[in-house]
Amino acid sequence: MSGERVLYGVAGSPGIGMGHALVYREKPMGSLEREVTDVKLELERYHNAVETFCRVTEAKADRVAEMAGKEQGDIIRCQSAMIRDPYLNGQVEGRIASRQSAEEALSASCDLFIDLFTASDDEVTRQRAADVRDLRGAMLRLLLGLPETDFSALKPGTVLLAEELSPSAVSVLNSANVAGIVLGKGGPTSHSAILARALEIPAVLGVEDRVLDTAPGEEVIVDGNRGCAVFSPGQVMRSVYESRQREFLQLRASLREFVGRQTVTAEGQRIHLFANAGSVADASRAAGYGCDGIGLVRTEFLYLDRTSQPGEEEQFHAYRQILSAMRDKPVIIRTLDVGGDKELPYLDQPQEENPFLGCRGLRFSLREEDMFRVHLRAVLRASAYGKAQLLLPMVTGVEEIRRAREILEEEKEVLRRRRVAFDEHLPMGAMVETVAACLVAEAMAKEVDFFSIGTNDLTQYILGVDRGNARVAHLYSYFHPAVLRQVRQVLEAARNTGTPVGMCGEAAADTALTPVLLTFGLEHFSVAPVSLLPVRKAISLWNREEARAVTEEALALDTEEEVRQYLKSREKR
Ligand code: PEP
Ligand code: MG
Repeated sequence: MSGERVLYGVAGSPGIGMGHALVYREKPMGSLEREVTDVKLELERYHNAVETFCRVTEAKADRVAEMAGKEQGDIIRCQSAMIRDPYLNGQVEGRIASRQSAEEALSASCDLFIDLFTASDDEVTRQRAADVRDLRGAMLRLLLGLPETDFSALKPGTVLLAEELSPSAVSVLNSANVAGIVLGKGGPTSHSAILARALEIPAVLGVEDRVLDTAPGEEVIVDGNRGCAVFSPGQVMRSVYESRQREFLQLRASLREFVGRQTVTAEGQRIHLFANAGSVADASRAAGYGCDGIGLVRTEFLYLDRTSQPGEEEQFHAYRQILSAMRDKPVIIRTLDVGGDKELPYLDQPQEENPFLGCRGLRFSLREEDMFRVHLRAVLRASAYGKAQLLLPMVTGVEEIRRAREILEEEKEVLRRRRVAFDEHLPMGAMVETVAACLVAEAMAKEVDFFSIGTNDLTQYILGVDRGNARVAHLYSYFHPAVLRQVRQVLEAARNTGTPVGMCGEAAADTALTPVLLTFGLEHFSVAPVSLLPVRKAISLWNREEARAVTEEALALDTEEEVRQYLKSREKR
């Protein structure tokens, strides 16, 4: 194939890689069936292979831990625990006893786990199937005496293309010679993606099998920021990417020193920087960069993309995992925020003419009260394991908060009667993301312990622009003077009433707005894990006087475009 073309997938590991294609195709193993005459000998072959596998795996894990940290090493190390799993071993030994070859017995037993994981509703569990496939491949190669594909000494500038690449194959890659990875399968939560991120190799995943159409040696650009790969790029595309790559590398180098640091302004004013988490994996990523807690757990992640709603136990375990990952730092768990553009197919809700003005957020929970009660019990139980706080979404007034509190108190009573531990003083806050909430913020302050400003929705409700409608997307902007004035008013109301307030909408992560938000008095920012370091760095570059001057200039402007262009021109990164 020739001529420039682009394949789109998902961003697996950030960065821009440029190089030449090495297309890897897994070779079929051949038949695993064989008549076994000596069962004892076959069992011994199997156990010897397990020993060798564990030795090799531990050595790989040590290398990864050294290069990328203990947690990443443990991704590989868990395979030696898996192969020693008593259930798996029992399965394999039973099959060998009934005269299957060690290869066939192991392969069939691994298939049980692969099928189980693949059938899961949960994306993270589904990705675990790749770990078992990895283990099965490595064990079969040992048993069959086949060499392991050696990716450790590739030519510099190699872009590795494959349908799937196992975590152990990724673990031996080196960013000095592997410019990037493009895979047909996999998602950002796969262990291969986690390892690629840790090894700082740009990766694009899930581009499907067209990836194997690439000619060996073809020039490839891997854009791990946008999630696409460009094949046989023309001169214009190449030079665009050369400058993007330079910019990315400079930024990455300058951000590295902010890992694990406190967030302070240029004058040393302490700012609290939290992370937004849409999964357990997000929370552990955020912990890796260092943050003051989780400012928003989007609990929807447990409810979407499945065929039935999660029960109390499943929810409790997920919230507890996030609380444990954060240890003694606050974790703000937002109650279910569905409706709008987030539908639960298994609930059979009527179609709405204007879903963003319909039954969403807290309105949905108050309507589906039984479901809300299960949800609250799960959060309450998890609150015994850390510093949880509860946050209500899409609030428009005091009455909704009072009703939510009544239900919460009733569920606390249920748990007390059952003698189940929970945090008696679990703080409860409200999202400020509707115009109504802004206007009655002082009254709401008497009902809640804190506010969190959701600029994503607030922007759409102030401007009357559907945040998901591409035809009006050019009108959706938190740089609009109306949005900025509203945010300032909410922060003033919070200050007047002594209510702690944070911001968890995307505006908090936009470093062009940092001086404005600091001047308005925002002290709690909550941003996606990937934005933690850029925001921490931006905050460190502003002092009060300079930020105030920029904010005054910005507020004197009349149009969204003027404000945006002005603030972008003064942005510090
Ligand atoms: C918001 O509206 O700003 C927000 C943080 O919530 P979501 O984007 O999940 O609606
Ligand atoms: Mg919202």
